Amino acid sequence: MQTTDQTAAPDDMDAMILESIEKWLERDVRPHVMDLEHADEYPQAMVEQMKELGLFGATIPQEYGGLGLSATTYARIVEKISETWMSLSGIFNSHLIMAACVTRMGTPEQKAHFLPRFASGDLRGGLALTEPDAGTDLQAIRTRAVRDGDDYVIDGAKTWISNGIHGQCFALLVKTDPEAEPRHKGMSMFIAEKGPGFGVSKKLEKLGYKGIDSAELIFEGYRIGADKLIGGVEGKGMQAALGGLELGRINIAARGCGIAAAALNESVKYAQIRKTFGKPICQHQAIQLKLGEMATKVQAARLLTYDAARAYDSGQRCDMEAGMAKYFASEAAMENSLEAMRIHGGYGYSKEYPIERFFRDAPLMCIGEGTNEIQRMIIAKQLVERNPV
Ligand SMILES: Cc1cc2nc3c(=O)[nH]c(=O)nc-3n(C[C@H](O)[C@H](O)[C@H](O)COP(=O)(O)OP(=O)(O)OC[C@H]3O[C@@H](n4cnc5c(N)ncnc54)[C@H](O)[C@@H]3O)c2cc1C
Repeated sequence: MQTTDQTAAPDDMDAMILESIEKWLERDVRPHVMDLEHADEYPQAMVEQMKELGLFGATIPQEYGGLGLSATTYARIVEKISETWMSLSGIFNSHLIMAACVTRMGTPEQKAHFLPRFASGDLRGGLALTEPDAGTDLQAIRTRAVRDGDDYVIDGAKTWISNGIHGQCFALLVKTDPEAEPRHKGMSMFIAEKGPGFGVSKKLEKLGYKGIDSAELIFEGYRIGADKLIGGVEGKGMQAALGGLELGRINIAARGCGIAAAALNESVKYAQIRKTFGKPICQHQAIQLKLGEMATKVQAARLLTYDAARAYDSGQRCDMEAGMAKYFASEAAMENSLEAMRIHGGYGYSKEYPIERFFRDAPLMCIGEGTNEIQRMIIAKQLVERNPV
């Protein structure tokens, strides 16, 4: 549904990229979504097309072969893709967070070695932070890297890792000094490629977010060169993770916008076609109230998302803006998918319509990249920090 925002109009090049993505979505994605979703099948052909489109290098600087897009244009792309099939955006989002960790904090050698391969999509992967006993409280992770000559030896486990099966390479958060105080000073990030000692234990079954693989990663005596420690110095792992998560939260916000908008679009169409008591249901005030609320939430979510993206692009600290966008847009996705289900009546519950998918996909936006409880705490802390008395 067109609730256009002119505040973040893309430039010509970005507009061309967006147009080619929209064409691809209509031609090569939309016709296959229902089948792939319900079979929970990895969209291999689409991944190859995403490589061609440059999506795996969307935010990687051009000097390393990426498209070098702004976070604002990136958010627009993610929103469009999520309107069609949210799962697809997960295949390149955590991959790009991994790339952002290298771009922001990697050594020149690490950038030259990894970024061109990330940008082409030949080397794909994601972000391995969460462990069975530590998600929100990342400083409680137990995966351990011990220095041994020119290498480190890593033991531990990660869970819920997006692209864990089909990806080959992960930004891996570990403890290099478990006794350090404060705890974050003992944390480091590696770029870890699969090899001996790095296994995948199982694909995790989920409510939604079908097609994309979520998996447990197991490290048993996994040996990795010290030259793969991001930035070359220990103790910067949390900084790398948190910096990457700002972009990640803008991505989740954009995904929330996409789901919320798709739920609205389907509802506006359906409400004009479905008749009860002699008139289309869009003429009943109870339905109009829902549509009015839904459209307002989509627009507000977009504006918050583009505001956060602009702050990110300007190099400002933007955890408050990204937190607000992520929180609001994900809740809008939840609320709009539920309202869409009510508007569609029994058909909203049917697997022949996309509404039940929006309803299953939306909750993940409230959990991933920092739960919505945590986002509100980040917002509050920033409010106080920015407004001292
Ligand atoms: C489909 C899927 C894909 C994912 N992909 C990835 C991935 O690619 N990489 C990765 O590293 N992780 C990934 N995750 C993990 C995700 O980031 C975590 O699930 C999330 O950070 C929450 O951690 P947790 O599940 O351990 O919950 P917990 O941290 O155990 O939190 C449980 C509850 O307690 C609340 N809570 C926790 N601490 C506080 C506090 N201090 N104050 C108030 N409330 C609090 C939380 O908000 C939540 O409601 C994925 C998860 C899912 C479901």
